[in-house]
Amino acid sequence: MLGSAPPTSAPATPARGARGGYRRPGTRAQLPPSYYEALEPLLGTVKKPAQYVGGEHNQQEADWTAADSRWLLCYPDTYEVGQPNQGIQILYEVLNRRPATLAERLYAPWVDLEERMRERDIPAFSLEGHRPAWAFDVIGVTLPHELGHTNLLNLLDLGRIPIHAAERTEEDPIVLVGGHAAYNPEPLAPFIDAAVMGDGEEVALEVDDVVAAHKREREAGGDVDRHTLLRRLAQVEGVYIPSFYAPRYTDDGRLKATVPIEAGVPPRVPKRTVQDLEQWPFPQKQIVPMTETVHERFSVEIFRGCTRGCRFCQAGMITRPVRERKPETIQRLVEEGVKDTGFGEVGLLSLSSADHSGIGKVARDLADEYEGTVTSLSLPSTRVDAFNVTLSNELSRNGRRTGLTFAPEAGSDRMRAVINKMVSEQDLLRTTEVAFSEGWRHVKLYFMIGLPTEREEDVLAIAELGIKTYELARKHGKGNKVTISVGGFVPKPHTPFQWAAQDSPEEIKRKLALIRQTIKDHRGLKLRTNDPEEGVIEGLLARGDRRVAPAVERAWRLGARFDGWHEMPTLDTWRRALAETGVDLDWFSHRERDEREALPWDHLDSGLEKDWLWEDWQDALSEKELDDCRWSPCYDCGVCPGLSIQHDTGYDGGMQLPVVPSGLGGNEQLPVTPERYASGA
Ligand code: SF4
Repeated sequence: MLGSAPPTSAPATPARGARGGYRRPGTRAQLPPSYYEALEPLLGTVKKPAQYVGGEHNQQEADWTAADSRWLLCYPDTYEVGQPNQGIQILYEVLNRRPATLAERLYAPWVDLEERMRERDIPAFSLEGHRPAWAFDVIGVTLPHELGHTNLLNLLDLGRIPIHAAERTEEDPIVLVGGHAAYNPEPLAPFIDAAVMGDGEEVALEVDDVVAAHKREREAGGDVDRHTLLRRLAQVEGVYIPSFYAPRYTDDGRLKATVPIEAGVPPRVPKRTVQDLEQWPFPQKQIVPMTETVHERFSVEIFRGCTRGCRFCQAGMITRPVRERKPETIQRLVEEGVKDTGFGEVGLLSLSSADHSGIGKVARDLADEYEGTVTSLSLPSTRVDAFNVTLSNELSRNGRRTGLTFAPEAGSDRMRAVINKMVSEQDLLRTTEVAFSEGWRHVKLYFMIGLPTEREEDVLAIAELGIKTYELARKHGKGNKVTISVGGFVPKPHTPFQWAAQDSPEEIKRKLALIRQTIKDHRGLKLRTNDPEEGVIEGLLARGDRRVAPAVERAWRLGARFDGWHEMPTLDTWRRALAETGVDLDWFSHRERDEREALPWDHLDSGLEKDWLWEDWQDALSEKELDDCRWSPCYDCGVCPGLSIQHDTGYDGGMQLPVVPSGLGGNEQLPVTPERYASGA
């Protein structure tokens, strides 16, 4: 348990006097204190001290006193996890390019430094200028998943910002969240001022305009307060102000609706979609980390969105439609980025990078360019087909053919039809045979258990598929290895599975034991699993409503932090918090919803029609698959109308075709002309 837990009774935030008389509005000439000197003596006493010092290559430091608006971009996890986050890097670039805007970064201090900061009254500070969080105008927090919620409260408290939005005054920053977990911000509603839905590039600048104009007006003596600012922010498309909406419940405790309680705000808040990625600056001068991080590479987002339609995948659903970057832009970004940063690895990132319509050419050109150099290329793709192997062969010209990863996600063809994975067992076995025959030594297979409609035979099929793959591996080399990685499924908002019941940890444990028992005689076949209890809190926060918020606060006050870390004993803390606040985990997580029940995120519009999601859920239950709409007619999920995006074409206007594995020789994916498409050639 942490020795540094905040006080268990409100308020946790120190009195205003702790800010040394500093007043935020009207502070052009006033520089808040830097805490570097206070931090320096502590560095030798904490783990990984380099993560707190800043000064990285390509760090940007704007002039504090010259800026009209100041953002603190926060990631609610450690530097080693958060530093490579693309969302933060993009916003950092977009905001800092503005002459009168300053953006700095903050990552969560590990518990050892937090303890010392609390002892010495050092507030959470930015990495660039070591300025206190409370001195910024906007605290912009990226929420890639739900397990950072307690860290968000902790960062606010450490930054001397009241954790409750209702207690913040003109002197406090606006606390704004974005990212995938912001698509259901209701469990955080009392703690945030705003949530931003969708792509951040455009909306961040519009928010910045509103904040800067509001400050100017106040400085000129205008009679505008924090409520005025929130009202103005609510007029920015994609910005949701939770305090302007209220939930209504039925007598039996179900949600009836979340409705506006402030005049002039939209009943449903639409997400923002950047239509042309090429129009926006992509960080070329990426920050080179000072210490070890989870990914140390120059990364280029080669496209955004995914329309494969995997029914469990929130990222794929909420980032529709697909928008590609041109191959020549990718090539240029890589060349300039590698030169500037000196990274030895380049990552071509997206949700399914092998699906870029020009990836064959991109991979070939980059492999040609960097052949014989120390630069390696990687493409995170788990697509189960021979084309993926062909691409990996190209990209690995500079290295050894060690590990390849595929994600069949489910063990049986039936279960894969339910989740719309569109991959047969034959595809998988043929693909792994291609991989081993072409010299790859280790294949990893990703699966989920606890999926809707799952039967015992579906669980056993995971083990059996692992065994068959392992037998293929051994056929091509005695030292070849296969690892099956199995995690528990967590239903997420804005997906067809948002109505599904989540398996209990006990049920997940039972299913894992079945897999373990079935493969026990195959010693070379490795099984990796997540802690079944990990998904419990994630599931609750993903689909909870505002009634879950007191449990989030209670868990944090009891010491919950870093909820996704194995090192942290947070589940017991959470169970106590749930008991004390009367939040029923079974009701929120392990219960199937019916069609009529309002969902806590119904007033937040991801673009997907709820009717379409329900139809897709019914298709899942009847094991009916749905093609990727990039190569089949549009099935009206609701996302594209209103956007000027020709969704079934690639970067060069060529139409897309599905990629069909063509056997041991691999295959190629080509954008084709409408004539070729029509003729089926
Ligand atoms: S609206 Fe049609 S084309 Fe656009 S993402 Fe949905 S199904 Fe695909």
